[in-house]
Amino acid sequence: MQTRSASVVVATLLAGVGLAQAASGIPRFYGDAPDDHHPWAVHDPNRPQPPVVTPGTFSSADHPGRPPSDAQVLFDGTDLSQWESTKGGPARWLVQDGILQVTATGDIRTRAQFGDCQLHVEWAAPQVVKGDSQGRGNSGIFLMGRCEIQVLDSYHNLTYADGHAAALYGVNPPLVNALRPPGEFQIYDIVFRRPLYDGDRVVDPGHVTVFVNGVLVQDHTTLEGPTGHMVRARPQPFPAKGPLELQDHGNPVRYRNIWIRELPPRAVEGGTDGPLSTAATLAKRRQIAAGLRADAQQLADPAHPLPELLRLMESLEYEADPPTLQRVETLATAYVGSLQNVPTDQLPARRDEVRQVRDAFRFLTRFHLLPTTFGPKVTLDQFIRDHGLDRRR
Ligand code: MG
Repeated sequence: MQTRSASVVVATLLAGVGLAQAASGIPRFYGDAPDDHHPWAVHDPNRPQPPVVTPGTFSSADHPGRPPSDAQVLFDGTDLSQWESTKGGPARWLVQDGILQVTATGDIRTRAQFGDCQLHVEWAAPQVVKGDSQGRGNSGIFLMGRCEIQVLDSYHNLTYADGHAAALYGVNPPLVNALRPPGEFQIYDIVFRRPLYDGDRVVDPGHVTVFVNGVLVQDHTTLEGPTGHMVRARPQPFPAKGPLELQDHGNPVRYRNIWIRELPPRAVEGGTDGPLSTAATLAKRRQIAAGLRADAQQLADPAHPLPELLRLMESLEYEADPPTLQRVETLATAYVGSLQNVPTDQLPARRDEVRQVRDAFRFLTRFHLLPTTFGPKVTLDQFIRDHGLDRRR
């Protein structure tokens, strides 16, 4: 059996290659094997577990909710320590009674910079309606300081559609108008993915998804570059990160409960490992296989060859490494040979174990990772038939 210290070593090795420590009870040699575009098997027990996040609570017009545990809170009602004026110097908007209000002091931005993110913002237009069209309850949320998601009192207020509340300004109107009356807090939930370039080639133009008060209004809308007034947005590379900006458009719009979660790489960047290019898939598979071989080495025990054998067989799913194939044949031959010495009356107790090895052989031959003529498999199949270990109990 594995000692406590060995299991710590194994966990460390696996963490180093991004592998989850084997969780007991999760089947191996089970779903379809890795292929040229998927480095992980279907239902792969080695695939890393998602990080745990404690969810917050939902907001209503009356009450701000609680952010999830991994959110970075940008305004919690107390101060503007995380913000500055875009002209330099401290942000001079008014903080009062847990609310941030636009004053005629110019735009503000976060001191920290962000790229891809999930952003939560709550805002309210003045209850006393003044002005019309773009002059009524206008502010704005500039993602990376470049793309404006419009903030505007669009409740019974006509304006150009691509300047409506929750428009990607000048590019795409919201799908519907889901605004509450002025004075009530509106809730924006935004998912932003910046443009990705490889030199001059567009890998992903970038997208934004927006919910207003829980209603989808921007559905993975393609970015067309930085937004502006009266100008056509033009696609262009973005830096990795930029500040989040809030606009002073001369109207006393109020904000509360602003938080952000930085997002991990998307699929095209290898996020959660698939589907990938053939080259990236093979590189990832080699990395996983190396981790499993290191793990197998920790499990090596001449008196109990099975744990090492099974782990090495797992590694063959990811990479047909010739020395490993040889080691698997040696260990498998020794294991199957050792069964011949087990007294017949003790075989039923070994039934599940033997069938586990049989199933692993079957899996690897089914996916052409071992030849169907693999000696230990042929011998084991015959042994199982001879001793009735394949019959239901
Ligand atoms: Mg605006």
